[in-house]
Amino acid sequence: MKTSQRLNELPPYLFARIDAKKAELQAKGADVVSLGIGDPDIATPAHIVRAMAKAIRNPENHRYPDYAGSFEFRSACARYMQTRFGVQVDPDTETLALIGSKEGIAHLCEAFVDPGEYVLAPSIGYPVYSGGAILAGGRAYALPMREEDGFLADFTAVPDEVLAQAKILFLNYPNNPTGAIATPEYFDAAIAFCLEHDLLLAHDNAYCDICFEGYRAPSILERPRAKECCIEFFSLSKSYNMTGWRIGFACGNRTAIQALGTVKNNLDSGQFTAIQEAAIAALDGPQDCVEEMCAIYQERRDRVVAALTSIGLECAAPKATIYVWAKVPEGETSESFATKLLERAHVIVTPGTGYGEGGEGYIRISLTTPDALLDEAVRRIGRLNGAR
Ligand SMILES: *Cc1c(COP(=O)(O)O)cnc(C)c1O
Repeated sequence: MKTSQRLNELPPYLFARIDAKKAELQAKGADVVSLGIGDPDIATPAHIVRAMAKAIRNPENHRYPDYAGSFEFRSACARYMQTRFGVQVDPDTETLALIGSKEGIAHLCEAFVDPGEYVLAPSIGYPVYSGGAILAGGRAYALPMREEDGFLADFTAVPDEVLAQAKILFLNYPNNPTGAIATPEYFDAAIAFCLEHDLLLAHDNAYCDICFEGYRAPSILERPRAKECCIEFFSLSKSYNMTGWRIGFACGNRTAIQALGTVKNNLDSGQFTAIQEAAIAALDGPQDCVEEMCAIYQERRDRVVAALTSIGLECAAPKATIYVWAKVPEGETSESFATKLLERAHVIVTPGTGYGEGGEGYIRISLTTPDALLDEAVRRIGRLNGAR
């Protein structure tokens, strides 16, 4: 049996060695703490769970959902865009429900990329941008992302022959894994670039609600002319601790929304309507749960940054996201240092290279570990002082 060539072209699973080391340590009885996974440890807020409990009892919801999402859900998405960003989107033509934003991001490539064509994806980023392109028969071109540029992906240096065959520019700010945030000027330059080169700008805004110290992450759709070339992805996963529920939405340019809808209409039948009803409760309901969660992450962030600084690692305290991105010491690679932390402190962190070639020299620490375990990990990292 022979699988498709495009399946073979997907990058290899980079965490295999770390996973094997973890299993080996655990077999010897070691108590390994993972700071590797970006998956909220705090429960979904109770009012959202209650809305689900009610919705699941309604037999109307047991039937096939509308593939594009219910009008009520899309309207709640539009209200969220208006309240949160002052952005107007039409629930019918400019909004689409997603079975998690990962689904929409991957399927967007099916809608725009023909064999041999390119997506432009940051050299440090969510693997779905390039994976979606490859599975669509296309290719991914890695945009440089430098610390001295604030990890703003550099789309100005794309070779002409790549640009001529490029269809989508993927951006993600607040950024996983670097924690970087974008300036309005950067978004404006990206929009101008996409308009000039006839590209779709796909902005992944999964972390827009996880912000610290008064920072408010914008929607790219706030920028002038954005709707001419932008589609933006939102997710309830991080905003409301709903990673397991699989619900998100896309909004923006009509042609892009319609094209993505056509792919989805042919491949899936939409998310369970009861989950959409719970998501309406999340979007329309009280938002203090989001603020409380951000306060918890901010405290964890500060403890992690202090621990890393105490052992001489360089890292900035991010203004948003659930990650701390830190430079590994001189002479180490992402993977050698992650392995050292695992062997000597029994703490798992993610090598930066798991997010692409640009991540070499960094590790990512996730703030989604319960406080007691995070404190234990921080103590162990702190004890490594001088042990490097
Ligand atoms: C977590 C995350 C998402 C959200 O994915 P869902 O499928 O909505 O759970 C999207 N983009 C990035 C960069 C993420 O880290």
